[in-house]
Amino acid sequence: MSERRLTVVEHPLVQHKLSYLRDKDTPTVHFRKLTEEITLLLTYEATKDMPTEPAEIETPLETMAARRISGKKVAVCPVLRAGMGMLDGVLSLVPSARVGFIGMYRNEETLEAVQYFVKLPVDLAERDAIILDPMLATGHSSCAAIDVVKDAGAQTVTLVCIVAAPEGIAEVHRLHPDVHIVCAAVDRGLNERGYIVPGLGDAGDRLYGTK
Ligand code: URA
Repeated sequence: MSERRLTVVEHPLVQHKLSYLRDKDTPTVHFRKLTEEITLLLTYEATKDMPTEPAEIETPLETMAARRISGKKVAVCPVLRAGMGMLDGVLSLVPSARVGFIGMYRNEETLEAVQYFVKLPVDLAERDAIILDPMLATGHSSCAAIDVVKDAGAQTVTLVCIVAAPEGIAEVHRLHPDVHIVCAAVDRGLNERGYIVPGLGDAGDRLYGTK
């Protein structure tokens, strides 16, 4: 098991952008862009331990031993719908990644995740999965998404979220101690409706302007 199971990215650029993401007056168009930019920066950390191998290359001046990522294959799996707002941030750094989609909604009474759609790359068993779920609240939807990619054989699973609640982190680590969580902030907790406080509200609604 990795000792880096939780990485909170405290880089000033991430924290600066996150402050605007949280601001209730930030309009949809900026919210979308900030989500993508923060995800790109989180992806940089999430992929930090990717193995590399030597590659002999020729610069215009001479031959040298460079390093390249050693054939690691990635499947990035956004949890619909809010995870979609994070997808381009990952793909801009890992353009060869395949994409899987996991449709979940939250039953607002039980706060349990209800799965309604799954479409994964056929060769997921040869890939490392990066699950995208911006708000790790109760952990139910993230854990259900982790179950989905593990059942399909994913080699390793990393969960990239933007804001996490301690309850969600504990739930993911209880059910999936092998999963590395990468986030931009750990907030105080959950309110009675299962929203992260102080949080940033409903990420899906703010991304897509549906409220
Ligand atoms: N989902 C959201 O979009 N926001 C929360 O605070 C919790 C779950």
